[in-house]
Amino acid sequence: MVKVERKINGLREKINRLKKKGKTIGLVPTMGFLHEAHLALVRKAVRRDDVVVVSIFVNPTQFGEGEDYESYPRDEKRDLELLSNEGVDIAFIPAVEEMYPEEPLTFINVEKLTECMCGKYRPGHFRGVATVVAKLFNIVEPNRAYFGKKDYQQLKVLERMVKDLNFPVEIVPVGTIREPNGLAMSSRNKYLTEEERKVAKELYGSLLKARSAYRNGETSPEQLVEKIKNYLKNFPEIKIEYIEVRNKKNLEELNEIAEPAIIALAAYLGRARLIDHIELN
Ligand code: AMP
Repeated sequence: MVKVERKINGLREKINRLKKKGKTIGLVPTMGFLHEAHLALVRKAVRRDDVVVVSIFVNPTQFGEGEDYESYPRDEKRDLELLSNEGVDIAFIPAVEEMYPEEPLTFINVEKLTECMCGKYRPGHFRGVATVVAKLFNIVEPNRAYFGKKDYQQLKVLERMVKDLNFPVEIVPVGTIREPNGLAMSSRNKYLTEEERKVAKELYGSLLKARSAYRNGETSPEQLVEKIKNYLKNFPEIKIEYIEVRNKKNLEELNEIAEPAIIALAAYLGRARLIDHIELN
């Protein structure tokens, strides 16, 4: 059975004891409502590290006004069953008051990387993410921390934070896990109706089409974005927020794809805001 720890001090005592015995610690930060993709991160951690801590915390500071903080899906009981089945050692589930006993005055801003893509449409989001992950790193002191490529910009932001601030943590990326129809798994897929779920797979479908065009010689970002827009016009339920072609390493804008790139997009489908991307190597 996974051990539940809700207090920072309690967790620190446990971790200190384990570290004294020479155990390596792997951390998998999540917001809970776990699905197969979370478990892919967990399995990688269980394989590589002696002790695995999964944090479950719906972090209020990374949600903007009008976003889904209140309604974000939660199911602690089921999450704990799933984590027990995977052999996870500790579930760290702090209350908001435990993580933020008073209004925080200190934040981590990763510049530049957060000006594009989701950063542009969710002001303050990555500040919230970077700050809470830094807190988790200071609390858990993991040797490794596992993050999904699904949230590609988040991964880049956190890699840069670790580098710039010399956190003694190795960031381990895990590839995007998809439903059999191609839809990237996400806790927010719960918001989709059955009909919307069928349409949602077209987001990845449009990215695959763009990648084929790229492989057939189309290297203009503008043209690739146009192709995706045209394809998604067939599905008027999908409201595109952005489609951007970016340098894969530093997320800089590209005039021409001459180096590894990603096409990233965000779109609303009903109440769900979905993101996805594809790599052009
Ligand atoms: P979340 O609970 O949505 O904050 O996600 C927790 C971790 O799981 C993050 O590192 C996400 O990038 C990762 N994750 C969520 N969905 C996927 C997915 N479909 N494929 C890979 N990683 C994912």
